[in-house]
Amino acid sequence: MKILVINAGSSSLKYQLIDMENESVIAKGICERIGIEGSNLVHKANGKETKYEQAMPDHTVAIKMVIDALTDQEVGVLSSLDEIGAIGHRVVGSGEYFTKTTLVTPEALETLKKTYEFAPIHNPANVMGIMACMEAMPGKSNVAVFDTAFHSTMPDEAKLYAIDYQDYQDYKVRRYGAHGTSHKYVSQEAIKYCDAEGKDFKIVTLHLGGGSSISAVKNGICIDTSMGFTPLAGVPMGTRSGDIDPSAAKFLAEKKGMTFDETINYLNKKCGVMGVSGVSSDFRDLQQATEAGNYRAELAVNLFAYNVKKYIGAYTVAMGGLDCLVFTAGIGENSAFTRARILKGLECLGVEFDAEKNKQRSSSIMEITGENSKVRVLVIPTNEELMIARETLALC
Ligand code: AMP
Repeated sequence: MKILVINAGSSSLKYQLIDMENESVIAKGICERIGIEGSNLVHKANGKETKYEQAMPDHTVAIKMVIDALTDQEVGVLSSLDEIGAIGHRVVGSGEYFTKTTLVTPEALETLKKTYEFAPIHNPANVMGIMACMEAMPGKSNVAVFDTAFHSTMPDEAKLYAIDYQDYQDYKVRRYGAHGTSHKYVSQEAIKYCDAEGKDFKIVTLHLGGGSSISAVKNGICIDTSMGFTPLAGVPMGTRSGDIDPSAAKFLAEKKGMTFDETINYLNKKCGVMGVSGVSSDFRDLQQATEAGNYRAELAVNLFAYNVKKYIGAYTVAMGGLDCLVFTAGIGENSAFTRARILKGLECLGVEFDAEKNKQRSSSIMEITGENSKVRVLVIPTNEELMIARETLALC
């Protein structure tokens, strides 16, 4: 079966057509500037890139352009739309309305609209993508794959904040986590790689990128994750503060004359390793500056690594042990420098890594476990689109 995977943003729409026979990408592309002047579609298939510049006033027009590109006589890869078996959609937030991948029925669509308050920037756009596909390709199965679903198995003591329980019940304020599709994908790949299916196997997955989150995955089930009600929580990130005492935020707001919204924006956009270093949010720049002797750049990297280490320790205790550490996403997959700073000092948990293997690069799974390590250390490229396609296939 061929599955079309859609990741719709407010003004962009990414897609991949995946052949599930061999899980290969047949075509992929991105529509940009939807609803804005200068919109365009870049379509890649058969090693060729084609750019279409055409007005895209809304997501329905964007989807129609994607369909045209996929079925184009010259650059297309489908003889007809009938070849698409189902459509899988990334949906960011679920609130407590959904706990797993869901076929979008008319009732589910109405419920999806209730989730907007839990992801106000992303979910309305994700749902626009779903509705555009329903309109442009009537009769096809549309499946919603939630970033939060993998974390829905967290026990109450991990997912709840220590607020008035009634407020949790009334407003559903709790930890939801993020990057769940990535954590699920890399943990499943690690289980396969380590031949640990059905075995007692405890993994800490480290999704370290522009946004970073860490999960404790015990026997394939997520039992805790570092992001919270929103993706602002957890370890410090590129520009996000991560965990901070709310009273410190209030103190800063008063000192700097910021409103509540401005303070949240400050914590999301002006903090993290960017704020600490004053150099960059990009770990390539931070490495360069550290090697050139910049104190604040090195402090930012150390602050990041220290906080990641703390989560690894906490999750090892939460799971009652540790068998495998998995690095993924932009930093996790590419920054040997940052991985080394995280891994040094974890010997007390039985974690040792091979410094030479750590410096290598690979587009597939890379094992950097040290000779005497009790814990496997893996670098696994994430693939959220493939995970969405797998989830969609499982339901159709
Ligand atoms: P992501 O959000 O997963 O796309 O990750 C983006 C981040 O990964 C960037 O902001 C960089 O900090 C980091 N990154 C990407 N490539 C490299 C690299 N080659 N070396 C170090 N960091 C990298």
